[in-house]
Amino acid sequence: SIGKSADETGCHVFVVGGFVRDLLLYRKNEDIDIVVEGDGIHFAKNFAGSRDARIHAYSKFGTAVITLEDGFKVDVATARTEYYASPAALPEVEKSSLKADLYRRDFTINTLAIQLNEKYYGTLIDHFSGQKDIKDKTLRIIHNLSFVEDPTRIFRAVRFESRFGFTIGKLTVRLIENAIRMGVFKRLSGARAMGEIVSILEENDPVPSIRRLGEFRLLAALHPSMALTEKTTALLMEARKALDGYELLAEDLRCHRWLVYFMVLLSPCNTADAKKICRILRLAGWQEELCVKERERAELCIKRLARELPLDNSILYSRLHVFKTEVLVYMMAAAERKQVKKAIAHYLSKLRFVTPLIQGRDLKEMGIPPGPAYRKILLQVQDARLNGMLHSKEEEMAFVA
Ligand code: ATP
Repeated sequence: SIGKSADETGCHVFVVGGFVRDLLLYRKNEDIDIVVEGDGIHFAKNFAGSRDARIHAYSKFGTAVITLEDGFKVDVATARTEYYASPAALPEVEKSSLKADLYRRDFTINTLAIQLNEKYYGTLIDHFSGQKDIKDKTLRIIHNLSFVEDPTRIFRAVRFESRFGFTIGKLTVRLIENAIRMGVFKRLSGARAMGEIVSILEENDPVPSIRRLGEFRLLAALHPSMALTEKTTALLMEARKALDGYELLAEDLRCHRWLVYFMVLLSPCNTADAKKICRILRLAGWQEELCVKERERAELCIKRLARELPLDNSILYSRLHVFKTEVLVYMMAAAERKQVKKAIAHYLSKLRFVTPLIQGRDLKEMGIPPGPAYRKILLQVQDARLNGMLHSKEEEMAFVA
């Protein structure tokens, strides 16, 4: 029916970009991007109307988002070349052809399109040899100024290279090196750079990409004290192990993977530099707190645990319960001694869930007058439970009595 809407509205309609790329790579992709030669919004309205779907149109941009009955989202854009009235202005949009639209994209592998009009349904359109590059597993930009135009593409190149097991083409590598040498990062906002770093750190295995960023000296370009060292790389691999382990233990308890890795990237920096980097990259206040102050507290705690272990569970609990999950996973990675790693894993998987079975209500029934003493009693019960001394509510009541 999408082809029918295309024909009815007199548009040429194509599915483009990541969806087509992933189709050829046999990879799952649920983001459908449609480009329309003609009036994209008119087409989107017609299509949404034909199947009772919801639509949000942005007439200024000629774009629309269609939400299908099953919640599936389709992005529709009018084929366009953008030009900017002034550097800070929103793009003015003019109608143009598919090829010009695709020319603005990052890599040839993202420029493939499939036509959806009924007569041409399924025709693959390949203006920039994307198919060949997919076959050759090569990432290539479309024109030589690509990285100067948009330095975030350097991060994207590194990310796709590792995600798809591709190689960045020789000329493309040279252009990346040139762009970095020219200092394109001075013109890239911290927030955009961070967006790309987070995307990399959220990939299944970000370590090869970070290594590659290190080879390009890109982290050092963001701030000299972030230069990648062997030690940091080893720690990143430990972090990956710790994260994978943690996710096996507690799949329902979300942990921001990127934050753990980012703490590792900041680990060689002194406090002042780490703070500076967080500010440059526009981290939120709580993220900076975690990456700088909390991480330093964590380092001290690791040292202390290495001296103190083995410990009673209740004491281990008191040392660790102050830390957020991300910091604890970081600690599991950063601790050199196995015993410390194990203790943190034990806390994460078991101890942190231990709470008394009895409540204030039970204490009242036992005739204890309500007041600050309740908290103290419940904490004592919790400690006793942590240390394996109490196994049922009856035992807890007997303990209190
Ligand atoms: P991911 O799976 O990480 O979402 P993707 O390529 O499938 O990657 P997006 O990152 O959402 O999806 O990008 C959608 C399309 O927009 C891409 O296919 C790409 O062609 C284009 N694109 C995204 N970012 C840029 C950029 N910085 N420069 C040029 N084109 C871009």
